[in-house]
Amino acid sequence: MPTEPTAPAAPDAPGPVPDKVRFDGVTKRFGDHTVLDGLDLAVAPGERVTLIGPSGSGKTTILRLLMTLERVTGGVIHVDGEPFSHMPSGPSGRGGRGGRGGPGGPGGKLVPADERHLARRRRHIGMVFQQFNLFPHMSVLANLTEAPVHVLGLGKEEAAERARELLALADKADAHPTRLSGGQQQRVAIARALAMRPDVLLLDEVTSALDPELVAEVLDVLRDVAATTDLTMLCVTHEMGFARDISDRVLMFDGGRVLESGPPGALLDDPGHERTRSFLRSLH
Ligand code: ADP
Repeated sequence: MPTEPTAPAAPDAPGPVPDKVRFDGVTKRFGDHTVLDGLDLAVAPGERVTLIGPSGSGKTTILRLLMTLERVTGGVIHVDGEPFSHMPSGPSGRGGRGGRGGPGGPGGKLVPADERHLARRRRHIGMVFQQFNLFPHMSVLANLTEAPVHVLGLGKEEAAERARELLALADKADAHPTRLSGGQQQRVAIARALAMRPDVLLLDEVTSALDPELVAEVLDVLRDVAATTDLTMLCVTHEMGFARDISDRVLMFDGGRVLESGPPGALLDDPGHERTRSFLRSLH
């Protein structure tokens, strides 16, 4: 029997290895509002992709779908060549009709197996949010050890050691997040995401809530992460200098579609669309 290639080449797939993340015809609707409209997007392992575009163009929704905080309305997401999305129905033949966290029902083996697979895979995708989302009632150290202990099953000592390695703010380990500056809180949030040893890191406007003088310290930490790891990164940002420094590719979104994409130098300095030019001008 002829075998199918495991990772059919997407139009912009950069190599023969399976894409780390691939969106195939992904549609997302909220009610009758179509936010993503048949999105095709392939991200190679280790690639750094920055998503830019006007507010409401669907950038955050892409990250939230990857965190399984939202479900696709249509199409399919693959991670490492395997179906990853919650699907109302799908081409994978693996079921996919299960409700999130639903009981599965007698004989419904495929659905819980898919749910478990999804949950396992999902652990290796980390996200840093605009509003930090730290646990306010826990110390900085506890914020960093909570998921490694309870989700990965690490021992408390091992988790604490991992946390201290990641946390440059060692003297703040026992402080509560509310005692820290916004920049420090965001650095803790980055360390918390990294403590799960993700292979995909999603950054959602991580400096937008910060006072201007605190932006640089957070971006410097992320530049360091980009330079010292092989993490696949998807980044939504309005910081074009940062996008230029870390990105292999910048995608300009408009109305839930990729209007244009290219290396940061080309796209940011010489965009092909007037829409991109006016968006970039609006940031100054
Ligand atoms: P961006 O990140 O490009 O600003 P988003 O992905 O946050 O865009 O949002 C795209 C559109 O989807 C916006 O119009 C937003 O109001 C809408 N949207 C996002 N999440 C929800 C939701 N949970 N319910 C209804 N509409 C939503």
